[in-house]
Amino acid sequence: MKEIRKILADRGFSGKVAEHEPMARHCSLKVGGPAGLFAVPRDTGELNLLVDVLESAGVSWCVLGRGTNVLFANGGFAGCVIRLGEGFEDIDVDDQSILEAGAASTTSAVLAKCVRTGLSGLEFIAGIPGTIGGAVRMNAGTGKEDIAGVIVELMVLADGRALWIGRDEMEFFYRDLTLRTGTIILGARFRMDEDTPEVIRTRVNEQRKIRGRTQPMGESSAGCWFRNPEGDSAGRLIDRAGLKGMMVGGAMVSQVHANFLINTGGAKARDFLRLASDVREAVNEAFGVILEEEVHVFEE
Ligand SMILES: Cc1cc2nc3c(=O)[nH]c(=O)nc-3n(C[C@H](O)[C@H](O)[C@H](O)COP(=O)(O)OP(=O)(O)OC[C@H]3O[C@@H](n4cnc5c(N)ncnc54)[C@H](O)[C@@H]3O)c2cc1C
Repeated sequence: MKEIRKILADRGFSGKVAEHEPMARHCSLKVGGPAGLFAVPRDTGELNLLVDVLESAGVSWCVLGRGTNVLFANGGFAGCVIRLGEGFEDIDVDDQSILEAGAASTTSAVLAKCVRTGLSGLEFIAGIPGTIGGAVRMNAGTGKEDIAGVIVELMVLADGRALWIGRDEMEFFYRDLTLRTGTIILGARFRMDEDTPEVIRTRVNEQRKIRGRTQPMGESSAGCWFRNPEGDSAGRLIDRAGLKGMMVGGAMVSQVHANFLINTGGAKARDFLRLASDVREAVNEAFGVILEEEVHVFEE
């Protein structure tokens, strides 16, 4: 990785580059071993350069938002973890119905802009932590609304080119967006409605209050661990199987919301993987339902 760092420096890469960066520092679960390389390109030019250098050297890479829906294994990630830097944080309003947000802008910064400018339509993301890039990739949302419902266009980097793709070219699913391997989301445009800042603020606060009542907000988690099976709720099944409070090492099934696995302090990535596996087995035994992970696991 030293050689990669040198090539990047020689070619003018000015963003942060670190070796053996612990992923626990960058993920809401607060677990995960080191990345071989951790790089933060400042803009699209640097991102393009970075990907080019990594691919020429045969180094695998992945993109990280705020790490609120991922788990890196104890062994970490042998390749390069890329986090988009400040050049991807802009939030603009083109006219009063389109909001454009860089992939690294946080959902809370986007909502603050919505309140200030009187733009309604994204209130449902209040309390969903992370970035716009992560929210689009995960088609983040609630039981009623998701990102797919408000997105108009996506700016992506694919095959060394930054381009806009229209809504009709995207395939969104429940908590998923199909992206060709190697595609990085750079930003998104959302169709919004106008409303008064007071009304939007009230909706945002209401949404946050609901989460405060139903989710273990103060704990370290990755949100819902499992995807809801067709017509049911993973949390309900885990609860009915009597698994609330079940622990492996420092990882525990939350007492507040059974689909949240939380770090009670000192948990290791392997504790979460074992706990998730035990939960899946117990739910399958009790109800014959095989739960699938919503959390993206990086085990390389
Ligand atoms: C307390 C809590 C509550 C939550 N509640 C909800 C909820 O109600 N609804 C919900 O949907 N989710 C929820 N989540 C999960 C999580 O917050 C969302 O999935 C969020 O959108 C992930 O954003 P992120 O930036 O953290 O992405 P990350 O976790 O960093 O990444 C998630 C995936 O997206 C990929 N990715 C990230 N950025 C890019 C990019 N620019 N280009 C391409 N791929 C990218 C990553 O490689 C990874 O595969 C919750 C999480 C927590 C901790």
